[in-house]
Amino acid sequence: MMNEGAASDALPAAAVQARPSRVSLPPKGSCWYCDKPVDSVRRFCGKDCTDAFDEEAEYTR
Ligand SMILES: [Zn+2]
Repeated sequence: MMNEGAASDALPAAAVQARPSRVSLPPKGSCWYCDKPVDSVRRFCGKDCTDAFDEEAEYTR
C-alpha cells in the first residue's frame, strides 16, 4: 500500500507552535528581532537581540 499523501498530513505542527520560544523559531535568514540579514542557520544577529527577544516574549505571552 502506498499512502504517502495521507501520512504527511499528520505532522504535529500545532504542538510545536502552541508555546513559541526562540529555540523553536525557524532560521529565516534575518534576525527575528531587528531583521538584519544573518547566516541562514542563525535566528539572531547577536546576543543582544536574543536577550531582547526573550524579554519581549516574556511580556507578550
Ligand atoms: Zn538583530
